[in-house]
Amino acid sequence: LHPVPSDIDISRAQQPYHITQIAKKLSILPNELDQYGHYKAKVSLDVYDRLKDERENAHYILVAGITPTPLGEGKSTTTMGLVQALGGHLNLPAIANVRQPSMGPTFGVKGGAAGGGYAQVIPMDEFNMHLTGDIHAIGAANNLLAAAIDTRIFHESTQSDKALYKRLVPTKKGVRKFTPPMLKRLQKLGIEKTNPDDLTVEEINKFARLDIDPESISIKRVVDVNDRFLRQITIGQAPTEKGLTRKTGFDITVASEIMAILALSKDLHDLRNRVGNIVIGLKKNGDPVTCDDIFCGGAITALLKDTIKPNLMQTLEGTPVFVHAGPFANISIGASSVIADKLALKLAGKPKLANSIEEGKIPNGYVVTEAGFDFTMGGERFFNIKCRSSGYKPSAVVIVATVRALKLHGGAPDVKPGQSLPAEYTTANVGLVKNGCCNLAKQISNAKSYDVPVIVAINQFETDTPEEIAIIKEEAKKAGAFDAVESNHWAKGGAGSIELANTVVRACEEQTDSHSSELKFLYDLNGTVEDRLKIICQKMYGADDIELSPLAKQQIEKYIQHGFGHLPICIAKTQYSLSHDPKLKGVPTGFKVPIREVRISAGAGYLYALAAEIMTIPGLSTHAGFMNVEVKENGEIDGLF
Ligand code: ADP
Repeated sequence: LHPVPSDIDISRAQQPYHITQIAKKLSILPNELDQYGHYKAKVSLDVYDRLKDERENAHYILVAGITPTPLGEGKSTTTMGLVQALGGHLNLPAIANVRQPSMGPTFGVKGGAAGGGYAQVIPMDEFNMHLTGDIHAIGAANNLLAAAIDTRIFHESTQSDKALYKRLVPTKKGVRKFTPPMLKRLQKLGIEKTNPDDLTVEEINKFARLDIDPESISIKRVVDVNDRFLRQITIGQAPTEKGLTRKTGFDITVASEIMAILALSKDLHDLRNRVGNIVIGLKKNGDPVTCDDIFCGGAITALLKDTIKPNLMQTLEGTPVFVHAGPFANISIGASSVIADKLALKLAGKPKLANSIEEGKIPNGYVVTEAGFDFTMGGERFFNIKCRSSGYKPSAVVIVATVRALKLHGGAPDVKPGQSLPAEYTTANVGLVKNGCCNLAKQISNAKSYDVPVIVAINQFETDTPEEIAIIKEEAKKAGAFDAVESNHWAKGGAGSIELANTVVRACEEQTDSHSSELKFLYDLNGTVEDRLKIICQKMYGADDIELSPLAKQQIEKYIQHGFGHLPICIAKTQYSLSHDPKLKGVPTGFKVPIREVRISAGAGYLYALAAEIMTIPGLSTHAGFMNVEVKENGEIDGLF
């Protein structure tokens, strides 16, 4: 339709297939599917075990972007358009793997993450709110951990070793018995006793008293709302807590380590180990205290045992979509889950046949996934953290570029959400686009350093001119892109993305000999933490150097001492510049990246460096998204984008 209707109107106008039909198309068996209503289902990890030896892995395509404007440049929209074209128009097995959006942005400024126009996940209201409850389950799991930590400090503060031990180890029918998580802790402490009555006074102290330094607690409570008034709070103010007050705060649920763990775990066993390894804070002697030390890992895993199953949905054109995990992209790893990739790569993969001639005739399928924000930030983490963990190497990278973002990098005035675009963006200006192509070229060269073919998708807007598009294509090819094509999925759905889909297929087929199937990383894990930070900042961001604060130096020392010195690094920084400073557009040079703090996400498996004052829970604007929403008499939701 022209003009293109609102996202919610498009979503509602399309009758989705029943989710069992989508599952059937993927050869998912009925007993591998847990239905949530008509259009959503969770898929069992048994699918992988059933198919792992029978199928190849499908081609794995990563969609990333150039440095965006605050409006978003259409990565999700392009992901949907691309799978719609691959699946519906080229008739290839194709699955999109995307993150579940947080309700923070959904009701804040940015909006949802279902894509847009005629390239979306549907039903988009179900996608953008609740889904199957995964974010809520993560919130419950995280908050159980937070409650366990403060309560443990409280109990330790009021009881002697012996009394604490007696109450910790439960008595059943008059017999005191260690629980399974307690036996695990005894093993870690090297105490080879299974009868609680056999522990010495010294062992009782070691086992029962964690002596957590309240100042060091790194787990905050979480909520999936942009509630700025929870950024800093004081807890324990009721008289029942006997003066044990503590300043703390809330994070948004998608910024929690448990969310990153869900994204990076390979299976339930791996998730259980990672959860247990979360460092919740330090003892007063400086030693790390883990989630398993307070016996919380098992219960958290129990809360997540269904959450670990990816959610199956569909695009507007009936292409299967896995929606799973949703870590924020600026302060976390910004990618959907390894488990969804693992399942989708088999479900879209071609069968291994005894007859190689027959096998050669069957085309392999495609799994298209996304990395948040620009390639330099999201793509770098995707390769160095997510792929390092999963072992899967993308066959190609698609970089989404828009005329509007290139104009911004070429010198046009800033773009502000909710305000009309300055004239530079709505009238042709080849000069500004050409100037801004330096940012695209840097993203291409960064992506190429991982030994993958790079395709540029120009996400077409109504106001773009042929001359502006032509200059992007020219500059992209000059910078070493395999090809650059425009994609008009927003206005035309999969039909508008056929050329992009064909280019992706060509890149995967033609490039198999020119690129190794081995993953190539930016850094190895043997060097120092400082070296790793420098490599990311210099080679990806284009910085001259890094500036480590005294606090960051101290923290790095401590992590090395405790055996965490060989983890990959996630740098939290602005998404609006290649550098740490959102004002620096294009390709900034001559800057040093300040590293203020380095935190540890031992369960997720990375160090987390802060290159900026970062918000771990956003706020709401004066006119926030929630103000547009209404529910009609018939239950339909209005105003959701
Ligand atoms: P990203 O994933 O990069 O953040 P999205 O795909 O979510 O970006 O798109 C951001 C917003 O821009 C969405 O509201 C989407 O509908 C809109 N949008 C994307 N591409 C186009 C286009 N070609 N024309 C008009 N609007 C678009």
